[in-house]
Amino acid sequence: MQIAIDGPAGAGKSSIAKIVAQKLGLEYIDSGAIYRALAKKMLDSNIKIEDYASIKNAMENISIELINGDVFINGVNFTPFIRSSEVTAVVSPFSAQTEVRRKVNFFLNSYSENKSVIMDGRDIGSVVFPNADYKFYLDASVEERARRRLAEIQYSASLDEIKESISKRDYNDEHREVGALKRVEDAIYIDTTEMSMEEVVDKILFNIKK
Ligand code: C5P
Repeated sequence: MQIAIDGPAGAGKSSIAKIVAQKLGLEYIDSGAIYRALAKKMLDSNIKIEDYASIKNAMENISIELINGDVFINGVNFTPFIRSSEVTAVVSPFSAQTEVRRKVNFFLNSYSENKSVIMDGRDIGSVVFPNADYKFYLDASVEERARRRLAEIQYSASLDEIKESISKRDYNDEHREVGALKRVEDAIYIDTTEMSMEEVVDKILFNIKK
């Protein structure tokens, strides 16, 4: 079974997908964590996000592994370092690059082969799993998403700063040429603005059982 969950930043995709995974006995895969880990690796290697040639070259020589939900790049666990404001600021323009998306999509498809998974991201229902058994698109107002993100982050920032960062990332993710965030026709749309996490989980499980 393959379940795809897409939607903008801070819509609650990861938290919801983790609970659904547990309830249905699926493996949860956070595709955004892989983009973040690769972006962090570029920062650590002093490769500029707009240095397309070096990024293309780096993508050809990098190994990605997913072990117990943690992302390893060239054998090093990057998970503790991927949620910083530094990584969040560059991940969207970085992930817009064709070579980066090709690398990540190849990994996601090979890793998920013969597994039952629930994966969240931006282009899961459109590109990674176009034939997923179930597709969901989780949305919420930008104010609500900023509030949720603020409660989650481990660095200090104001609500307005988070709102601006989220809006900028959404705009980039929606307007890029490859793997853009979009609502595919066969995805079930859920506006979570006024919903609790439990209500969203129940709605997803209801649709799956139906
Ligand atoms: O899900 P998260 O907000 O951690 O994702 C970080 C960034 O990774 C997104 O803003 C987007 O630019 C990129 N991403 C992507 N495609 C995915 C998942 C994430 O381009 N499937």
